Amino acid sequence: MRRLRQGDEPEIATTSPAAAPPTRDDLRAFLRAAPKPEGLRNYGPTPTAADVEPARQWHAYLAAHGYTCLHWPREFGGIDAPVTFQAMFAEECAYADVPRQFSIFGPDLVGPVLIKYGSDEHKATYLEPIRTGAHIWCQLFSEPEAGSDLASLRTRANPTATGWRIDGQKVWSSGAADADLGILLARTDSDKHHGLSMFVVPMSTPGITVRPLRQIDGESKFNEVFLDAVELPADALVGRPGQGWELALAMLGRERLTLGTHAVAMFRRHHALVAAAHERGVLDAVLGRSMTRLWARMWLLRYTWQRAVERGDLTSPEFSVLKLVTSETDRDLSDLATDVLGVEACTDPEDDEFVRHMLVGRAQTILGGTSEIQRNILAERVLGLPKEPH
Ligand SMILES: Cc1cc2nc3c(=O)[nH]c(=O)nc-3n(C[C@H](O)[C@H](O)[C@H](O)COP(=O)(O)OP(=O)(O)OC[C@H]3O[C@@H](n4cnc5c(N)ncnc54)[C@H](O)[C@@H]3O)c2cc1C
Repeated sequence: MRRLRQGDEPEIATTSPAAAPPTRDDLRAFLRAAPKPEGLRNYGPTPTAADVEPARQWHAYLAAHGYTCLHWPREFGGIDAPVTFQAMFAEECAYADVPRQFSIFGPDLVGPVLIKYGSDEHKATYLEPIRTGAHIWCQLFSEPEAGSDLASLRTRANPTATGWRIDGQKVWSSGAADADLGILLARTDSDKHHGLSMFVVPMSTPGITVRPLRQIDGESKFNEVFLDAVELPADALVGRPGQGWELALAMLGRERLTLGTHAVAMFRRHHALVAAAHERGVLDAVLGRSMTRLWARMWLLRYTWQRAVERGDLTSPEFSVLKLVTSETDRDLSDLATDVLGVEACTDPEDDEFVRHMLVGRAQTILGGTSEIQRNILAERVLGLPKEPH
């Protein structure tokens, strides 16, 4: 058995789709040789305003070489890539320190739903611009009173003579300020789940106001979105009226692929923290034990990730366990930075990557379902414990 050493980097997925056989080495060489647009950085799930232009160019370059929307069917420009290959590409992008696409919204969330539930016109209009990055999308789901309990949302979509009229407010809408289109969940009927419907919303439609929210690290990736008497045509509806909850559930899970890229970043941060502790002469037995424990947890996560990826089912409970434990391990790793930095941790996040991550990394335990909600899901659906009272 190979002995793991500090500084080892994890490499898990190894297979490629048979008809398109780039190997890990091919991907690494391609990403190393690719011309990087000026200002491109690995900004995480959502670009800031300054990232938008280089990220659009980068997405277009990847698309021109067949490396976006890998999981889509071939007839829509994908390569039907198995989860192992998608995971390998995501990992190699993390090693190369570049985004694997502009954001998850178009390629990972909207595209698959339009492919499965959209009309022929939806597919013809929206899929290719998602693949090439010509259209940037955002997700208009959460509301001030509807986050974990998303189905309680109140934004209304009322039928009109020509289509739909939308009134309401969304919040935490990542990237909405720079998006061309939004995928909206709105209420068309009073039934909690069966009264929800999904719509395509051009963000330039009159009546839409986007207000950026400033985060703790000074960046503005989130937005409030106000929808006042927004008129949409009849064909803005995706699927049937009342089918929105089914479509929303179909979107969940895709973001779990990014967990592997978190792992790459975590191993790097751990390595950098150990080096910083050495440099500062603070690596005593107590700190050493905390760091070793976290490092062991990271490797256990890697092996769980490997098993989950090889099984290839993004809806399996293994991914819920991974989401929960990865985000909490990442948080604990960031918190450890305070033990290494001491009072220097009280600094402007712009000046220190550890401090920045300590502040914004916590978002991972909230987005895509909070840790508490993940625990509820695991308790009820995996362990078969009694359902929480509503
Ligand atoms: C970085 C980031 C990006 C995001 N991007 C988007 C986006 O682009 N589009 C979008 O629509 N939304 C987005 N969100 C919103 C995200 O989906 C919600 O924040 C999340 O679902 C939690 O909802 P909430 O913030 O309203 O918290 P709440 O649901 O109000 O929860 C508050 C607290 O109560 C706990 N809690 C709630 N219900 C239960 C329960 N039943 N049992 C136990 N504990 C419970 C929660 O765990 C949490 O600790 C984003 C969030 C983040 C952090």
